[in-house]
Amino acid sequence: MDLMEYQAKELFAKHGVTTTLGVVVETAEEARAAAEQLGGVTVVKAQVKAGGRGKAGGVKLAKTADEAFEHASNILGMEIKGLTVNRVLITPATPPEEEYYFSFLLDRSNRQYLCIASVEGGVEIEEVAKTNPDAVKKVAIDPGAGVDAAKAREIATEAAFPEPVFEQAVTMIEQLFKVFVEEDATLVEVNPLARLEGDKLEALDGKVSLDDNASEVRHPDHEQFVIREEADPLEAKAKDLGLNYVKLDGQVGIIGNGAGLVMSTLDVVAYAGEDHGGVKPANFLDIGGGANAEVMANGLDVILNDEQVKSVFVNVFGGITACDEVAKGIVGALELLGDAASKPLVVRLDGNNVDLGRQILAEANHPLVTLVDTMDGAADKAAELANV
Ligand code: GDP
Ligand code: MN
Repeated sequence: MDLMEYQAKELFAKHGVTTTLGVVVETAEEARAAAEQLGGVTVVKAQVKAGGRGKAGGVKLAKTADEAFEHASNILGMEIKGLTVNRVLITPATPPEEEYYFSFLLDRSNRQYLCIASVEGGVEIEEVAKTNPDAVKKVAIDPGAGVDAAKAREIATEAAFPEPVFEQAVTMIEQLFKVFVEEDATLVEVNPLARLEGDKLEALDGKVSLDDNASEVRHPDHEQFVIREEADPLEAKAKDLGLNYVKLDGQVGIIGNGAGLVMSTLDVVAYAGEDHGGVKPANFLDIGGGANAEVMANGLDVILNDEQVKSVFVNVFGGITACDEVAKGIVGALELLGDAASKPLVVRLDGNNVDLGRQILAEANHPLVTLVDTMDGAADKAAELANV
């Protein structure tokens, strides 16, 4: 789960990292009140899970409370990288004298953590990495050893934090590592890490990705960061139904059993779509091993409620769950859904008890269902039906 800036800052504060929490609001009126209460110059910052908000016009300085109102009315409702801004963060404006970049991340390919830091930081770290790669320092971290005071000092030295803020940097690096490890994050990024007037170091922005695998047992407290209304409604529904579903931007709904099969189904459908007006897979949905009628009905229900979907491809390889069970599942699901099942279904069954499975579907003779024997053939048919 990716956090909003204000949520990341809450975690920073929890671990002692110097930051200003500010006030999160959802209306321009509230923004005015918050700016009045904070007094002085404030910053109005769009809260969306995307970078580059500054460039997109989602971060504005306000000299007065009325200006905060103005900016908030412009920023609320704005779209940044396809995401609608529903809330803004109001913080006291603290003009940075210098901007640095700092992050910890999971380096999967090297099976360790990685720290990236640059005192040439600021907004465009990617640009710095291109034009002046030597200014972006990378320090590998042994996950077993972690970051103690000595390691933090080594990082601060490598990054060449200037003398007046050096000791603060060492302390903050240790604290940010605590955020990273103790919160089970896969990314902790501060950009800008700002040097403010009076040589004070402060995290002016924060980006944190939490490892969802840790949420249930190790971090039930992370539930507080889930913003229901920000989630895609179909994904939220699928989650409530216990389905392994990811919404994509396409027209062919996909249901399969086993993540590997579903992934390859997405590829085959995307490929077939090239011959049918460029239609694409609409989702990832793995119904797993026990594809009974209820699971199948739940899966179909979610997919059929996706307005973009024009056809559905059910691709099942019978293993532990035999094809006849799956076929009964499909027939049962269509009965359960009744009129709600309104889009053509292409079904490809193979594997354990395939003949019986196909026979069940043939006998049911549902007007929306087309049986195709091969995966390629079924993908082609589903793409053709989606190209309307
Ligand atoms: P991003 O563009 O989405 O990464 O958003 P940031 O939070 O990094 O803001 C973009 C830029 O706005 C920063 O690089 C700063 O220069 C400026 N900025 C952000 N927060 C503050 C603040 O509290 N005070 C001032 N004066 N500028 C800020
Ligand atoms: Mn930033």
